Amino acid sequence: MNNNLVSTSMEKSFGKSLLYTLPMFLITFIFISGGKVDFSNLPAALAIVVTFLFMNILYFMMHYTGKTDKFRVILFIIFALSLSFTLIKNMMEMRHSMSFSQADLLECKIPFCHLVIPMMIIPAAFTKSIIFPGSVIGGFADISSMIILWLVATLVLGRGFCAWGCFYGGWDDGFSRFRKKSVIKKISESWRWMPFAVLFMVALTAAMTLGPTYCDWICPFKAVTEFEQISSVESVAKAVVFISLFLSLVVVLPVLTKKRTQCSFLCPMGAVNSLSNKITPFVVKIDKKACSECFKCVQVCPLFALTKEDVKNGKASVFCSKCGKCVDVCSKNAIHFGIKGVPAGTMKNFSRNLFLFVSFLFISVFSAGSIINAVQSIFKLLF
Ligand code: SF4
Ligand code: SF4
Repeated sequence: MNNNLVSTSMEKSFGKSLLYTLPMFLITFIFISGGKVDFSNLPAALAIVVTFLFMNILYFMMHYTGKTDKFRVILFIIFALSLSFTLIKNMMEMRHSMSFSQADLLECKIPFCHLVIPMMIIPAAFTKSIIFPGSVIGGFADISSMIILWLVATLVLGRGFCAWGCFYGGWDDGFSRFRKKSVIKKISESWRWMPFAVLFMVALTAAMTLGPTYCDWICPFKAVTEFEQISSVESVAKAVVFISLFLSLVVVLPVLTKKRTQCSFLCPMGAVNSLSNKITPFVVKIDKKACSECFKCVQVCPLFALTKEDVKNGKASVFCSKCGKCVDVCSKNAIHFGIKGVPAGTMKNFSRNLFLFVSFLFISVFSAGSIINAVQSIFKLLF
């Protein structure tokens, strides 16, 4: 069969794509604007309208072109940049600095982050109180709503959270697309187990110290969010660790390997989400009858989630974030979003539409606040 015909079988007509976009259009309008836009504050109203239209155009294009990752990554990167922008802006307004003091820490004036969740659970079980709670000030989500959102996403999307929800993932995802071809081509897949070792270590040390050891010592994203004041040898050592990890795992290695190396090798949340992939309804499947075993999908996978054996076995591994990059690259339309229990190669359109609806709705709702905030700041600068 003609490859072009096969590869575009997920494309839809303009009218049909509009029809598929309509429910997202209505739901995101209610979520983003609260049902009405107040034009008395023009920059804020314009920021809402621009964000809302931008998101729905991306969703429409996913249906119209049949491509997923190509449009997902635009929103994902903008989410990561705008979150850091919003966070830094709020830090500067609150305390005129990106760094926090011990007093800020004790008074809970620091934002809560989902990466803390694996470190909170064990200490919380011991002490019956939450260690390292976050701020509820300004634009930051409060702890309970963040945990509920993360739990829902984890149960429904599994590791899909790492491609459709994580507000840091856009950084290494973005840098992994800087070059057309990778410089470092061969990395052992066994490194993908590293986040489980990190998870084990941080959970253990968090239980022993009753503190957030990952945030304290390792988190590479301190470089683009908030960090401890540099006031001692210990704080200097911490700063050196997180800046080195940011530069190596978030910037340099993604550029050289075209892989999301921070997410693949370090993030303890990635390990938790990989485990939850076992219980989610969505999975990336391979229709073995259509597959020509070219293994292009294996090469492009940014998370080492797809091996030649996985392709032969007919489904992606538990490391899969459901980003859709492998699906976009397959000229045989053999690899696709599927639902557990439904045989590979069947109900492809239905499975993709359902998955796209759930995951896109999640990222839209999760990212809207910080994107609107960033866009509004740009408008205020311009006008
Ligand atoms: S699923 Fe598609 S891209 Fe992957 S090996 Fe088969 S034909 Fe190639
Ligand atoms: S297997 Fe496909 S969908 Fe899963 S992480 Fe790799 S490229 Fe993304």
